[in-house]
Amino acid sequence: MTNNFPLEICVLGCGTSTGVPVIGCTCPVCNSNNPKNKRDRSSIMITSARGERIVIDTGPEFRLQMIREKVLDINAVIYSHTHADHTRGFDDLRAFNFKSKKPISCYVPIEHLEELKHNFSYAFEETDYIGSKMLIESKTLTKGTFKINDLQFDSIIMPHGNTTSRAYKIGHFVYATDFKTFPEKAKKKWKGSIDVMIASGVYFSSLPTHSSIQETLELFKELEVKKGIITHLSHRVDYDRDSSLLPENIVFAYDGMKFKVT
Ligand SMILES: [Zn+2]
Ligand SMILES: [Zn+2]
Repeated sequence: MTNNFPLEICVLGCGTSTGVPVIGCTCPVCNSNNPKNKRDRSSIMITSARGERIVIDTGPEFRLQMIREKVLDINAVIYSHTHADHTRGFDDLRAFNFKSKKPISCYVPIEHLEELKHNFSYAFEETDYIGSKMLIESKTLTKGTFKINDLQFDSIIMPHGNTTSRAYKIGHFVYATDFKTFPEKAKKKWKGSIDVMIASGVYFSSLPTHSSIQETLELFKELEVKKGIITHLSHRVDYDRDSSLLPENIVFAYDGMKFKVT
């Protein structure tokens, strides 16, 4: 495992489902010139020390994110859940197919497989379409742990409104987006073993389907996370104004943020 580390984590997008700026909104954050207030829909990219590249979620800006980060190839995609803001860039995986002529491995939690297949049926069914077809190698995640090449992952299912989302742990790094609460069992299991955790927060007041920023701060404390990064942010969060409200070891994510985890 050790020669896969350090991993480089890149925040491809850190916005909530609308993205920021929000269409038609004239609020100060949507009008802001601060690049840290411009938020694509949420996803991350993990690059191992050996150069393997894994993306968690493909939001609507996936194509633009791959161009922005000058990504030439990816090895696999993992999905957290099937909401539009996490999957709508799926079709742009084709560009990697054109280049490599090989299928891309898509790791889909079993509880979300039917919906992903329904939303992108053309990619999973035999059709008589004669154009460039997507090449997907669908891998179903039945239990918590799985491996992608030599990289060992653990995952847990989190409640997210009337659906669920999966959090992923690789080494001492966790990515957890789109949850209302964190299961007690998972808290016990992962407590004290997380150096860096990216978790969704949206904004300061409470929401029915997502944890608020306060609830996420509480979660970081409970899990004894050394460094916490809050993602999936709405236009109600101004990067500069609101950063001062966070504890010393917690920051807001921004698009293009990069760091290493050992
Ligand atoms: Zn979302
Ligand atoms: Zn969601």
